[in-house]
Amino acid sequence: MDGDIYPVNNPYRLKNLTDLNTRCTHCKQNFEPEPNFYYGAMYVSYAYTVALFVAVYVFLGIFLDWNMWSTIAALAIVLVVLAPVIFRISRTTWLSLFVKFDKEASKDHLKP
Ligand SMILES: [Zn+2]
Repeated sequence: MDGDIYPVNNPYRLKNLTDLNTRCTHCKQNFEPEPNFYYGAMYVSYAYTVALFVAVYVFLGIFLDWNMWSTIAALAIVLVVLAPVIFRISRTTWLSLFVKFDKEASKDHLKP
């Protein structure tokens, strides 16, 4: 809970974007329960992207009444800029969906 999932927390350090601690730095929770575990995070990423797309479209295209090409250009920029963040959030969401935090396990690990 208090540990880090990623060795480099800034998602914009693109060289380290896909780096992941195999275990929590604090409680030793396993962050990679099986090989290719994060394959499914792609679907989460897709869902976040669609949600972001709709939000930006509604705001610019409908509320601010931007024309189609301005809205599309803005969407493209927003998606590119936020891609590393969406990538990380998707992995974290996927992890929290399938790996339950085990209080007892962490207690054992934290014993001196
Ligand atoms: Zn932890």
